Amino acid sequence: MGKILFISNRLEKIQHYAKIFDKKPYEFFTSSDEGAIFEITEINNPDIIIFDHAFVNVKQIIKKLKSVTTSSSFVFLTQNTVIENDIIKYINAFLTEEMSDELVLSTIAVNLKTKNMLERLSDTNKNLADSLYRLNVLYSTSSQFAGSLDKGKLINYMVEGLDKSLSFDLTCTLCTEDEPVLILNSLYEISDELLSAIKLRTVLNYKSLFEDKNPPFEIDIENLKVIKTVKYPANRFTFTIFQYDNMFAPISLGDNFFGCIEIFKEAPFTSDDATCFQTIAQQVSLPLKSATLYQEIMETNLKLEKLERLKSEFISIVSHELRTPLTAIKNSLDIISSERCGTINESGQKFLSMAQRNVQRLAGIINDLLDLSKIEAGKMEYHFTNMNIHSVIDYVKSTLFGVAKEKGLNLIAEETLNLPEIYADAQRLEQVLTNLVSNAIKFTPEGKNIIIRSHLAKAEQLNAPDCFKDDLKKLNGEYIVVCVEDEGIGIAEKDLLRAFDKFAQIENSLSRKVGGSGLGLPIAKQLLEAHSGAIWCDSELNKGSKFYFALPVNAVTSNLEKSLILN
Ligand code: ADP
Repeated sequence: MGKILFISNRLEKIQHYAKIFDKKPYEFFTSSDEGAIFEITEINNPDIIIFDHAFVNVKQIIKKLKSVTTSSSFVFLTQNTVIENDIIKYINAFLTEEMSDELVLSTIAVNLKTKNMLERLSDTNKNLADSLYRLNVLYSTSSQFAGSLDKGKLINYMVEGLDKSLSFDLTCTLCTEDEPVLILNSLYEISDELLSAIKLRTVLNYKSLFEDKNPPFEIDIENLKVIKTVKYPANRFTFTIFQYDNMFAPISLGDNFFGCIEIFKEAPFTSDDATCFQTIAQQVSLPLKSATLYQEIMETNLKLEKLERLKSEFISIVSHELRTPLTAIKNSLDIISSERCGTINESGQKFLSMAQRNVQRLAGIINDLLDLSKIEAGKMEYHFTNMNIHSVIDYVKSTLFGVAKEKGLNLIAEETLNLPEIYADAQRLEQVLTNLVSNAIKFTPEGKNIIIRSHLAKAEQLNAPDCFKDDLKKLNGEYIVVCVEDEGIGIAEKDLLRAFDKFAQIENSLSRKVGGSGLGLPIAKQLLEAHSGAIWCDSELNKGSKFYFALPVNAVTSNLEKSLILN
């Protein structure tokens, strides 16, 4: 169908053209009244308007009509082929007085076809632009989803995304996480009656999602919490909202259900709208799941931190409380043992020294506990000085030589002479080395050797089993390396790292028998880290172990001091 409006005041032309277009697919009408042209155009919305050159004010009328109608195509009926520039710029085609009827018909048919094609092209362009816009909205919404672990923000991003892509009038989002909440985002203020209706409708929608099964939450309509955001609070929705078009979707991922959303709009939704709505409702589910897990992890972490703090406090208090009576017991035993209170027979002496040995052991465990709780609370005190590692090795060797000998072990020190000085706390290093040599004595059968070695090495020359590689990677520069080598029971490779865990005792026949706190190695590790050093172990089951520690040669300050300076 093609509607043709012919503007002319020449009767013979009007009759002639009426005859030409007196057949399908044309609908022909005409206007010779200058005042009525605009109204006729507006009412009939012609596809083509033909202007007779002889009409009055034709130039002005064309110009004015062009601003009134954007869809009509303009054709000019000219007397000869010369047309003024002022007219050419407004028209799409022209006809001449001499043209045969057939040529007029085919010119108009071509024009009509071109106009329809252009219209279709512009519709396609508009659809493409709409789709592109939506894709952009979906893209930016999903980027926002990916960047957040906050459930409230995620729901906001979802609603914003829906607003940008579908421009809704009202959304009702029911979130069932923790306490159920109904989030309303609307253009206008919601009346109390409407709010009650929305609540009821949302709860029924929610229940319908679970068919015969019980929903995970019971929702009490009376007490349902509502969060409302209104764009134009001066206006108010009425009950006609339920004549609006609507879409509904659950927000869920597999078995995880986070809620549901319903969206209302005055104009009908298209199938593209439905796809976009579903995509956004589905896309928000995965980040909501991550946010839930993240929240759970954070809560568990907080609980664990609190427990860890309580445990450290408990250990610190209990060890302090144990130390005082233990010191009193030790002093009393020493007095009895000195026979100042009377002589003790041989079997009494045996039990007394057993008691003294166990008091000594208990004091060791309590000291370890206290040290660990001080280190973990950042309260361990260090006295750093320029010192020589030989003095530490000498001290430990002379202290434990007798103990080793008593067990039939040979404690040897094979040192590299003239090692450079290090900046360290001598007492803490003695504590580390004493622990390593005591362990070697504990876990080595009689008749074997225990050797303390020391040498200078560059970080890249240091070698350790794979499980310690990360610790060694942190080192750089020159180090003094001390090694305690024994020919004892050894540690299986799978247990190497665990030996440095708090309270760890590797399962073997000796560990239980010889006893211990399981704190010596973790304390040594922390003390060495405070020296910007490292500790590691190389061992072979039933052959023996080599425990190494490395201390930086040029370190002027320790990690700990650095942090103190920074703070
Ligand atoms: P403990 O007080 O139990 O010795 P440590 O932290 O010093 O605590 O050692 C942890 C565990 O590592 C020990 O119980 C033992 O199983 C193992 N271990 C430590 N040193 C040696 C060693 N030289 N030979 C074999 N096993 C060892």
